[in-house]
Amino acid sequence: MLPEGAPAADHAPVSTHAYATLVTNADYALGARALCRSLRLTGTQADIVVLHTGGVSGPDLEPMHEFGVRLARCDLLPTSAAFNAAHGRDRLHGAAPFTKGEKPAFHTPLDNFVKLRLWQMEEYERVVFIDADALVLRNLDILFQYPEFSAAPNVYESLGDFTRLNSGVFVAKPSAATFAAMLARLDAPGVFWRRTDQTFLQSFFPGWHGLPVYCNLLQYVWFNLPDLWDWASVRVLHYQYEKPWQDHAKADQVRPLIDLWRAYLTGENIPPDIAALPGPKEGACGS
Ligand code: UDP
Ligand code: MN
Repeated sequence: MLPEGAPAADHAPVSTHAYATLVTNADYALGARALCRSLRLTGTQADIVVLHTGGVSGPDLEPMHEFGVRLARCDLLPTSAAFNAAHGRDRLHGAAPFTKGEKPAFHTPLDNFVKLRLWQMEEYERVVFIDADALVLRNLDILFQYPEFSAAPNVYESLGDFTRLNSGVFVAKPSAATFAAMLARLDAPGVFWRRTDQTFLQSFFPGWHGLPVYCNLLQYVWFNLPDLWDWASVRVLHYQYEKPWQDHAKADQVRPLIDLWRAYLTGENIPPDIAALPGPKEGACGS
């Protein structure tokens, strides 16, 4: 018997390794569709697990079957009413405003914590979690050989960013004991995790291992740190803040990245050679 609310998958695992993502509503299910296609195109033999909550309908999940994913239904974490209130969208945005970019209206901060449920999937030796708003542009299986807890730095403005992690890509070793320890630490009286799971994971794993920045390259690097952009090295492209399926204020600044995401969503016009793409200082945009 699975613990209450734990991920319940629609079929048995095939591999001992898995990529996992999370979708709690239709918008992120769209993101996961592009992500799952991109993962399959890397030729990985690992399982792909899509964690989903009651907020996503069957028709929104259905397109994912094309990529042979394991759909795993789970619940939000059993956090206290005080915790849920402190991390509600309005309260969190009020207490810790986002000044660098905009979070879409469909982003519910409390839902981010569901990522922690992957520690309940003990059928896997390693899980590489990837946000639903990301694309995997090159095979990433090497990450299954990395230890817990590995993540890339949260770089999108300056060198100072290298000291903090971004929780859009990370390597975890599932363990019910770790999950229980996390829950105990997560929902302590009076806590406030200002950037939700990301702040929590950095605190829970203070000795986190650093992955190359190209394992989680953030879209703002395109216009803020163009010298860091390298199509020949990028493995994961992550659309933090505004999403590529939204109409948003920075869309013109990242147009080639949005076009790339669309290609992976539809499966049409996926570039045959990512390394050959024009960088932010060349081509139509950014100059
Ligand atoms: N997520 C979700 N529903 C939400 C908020 C987040 O499914 O309402 C999941 C989804 O996988 C998403 C991830 O949690 O990619 C983290 O949120 P997001 O990517 O929007 O944060 P950002 O990368 O902008 O910090
Ligand atoms: Mn993200």
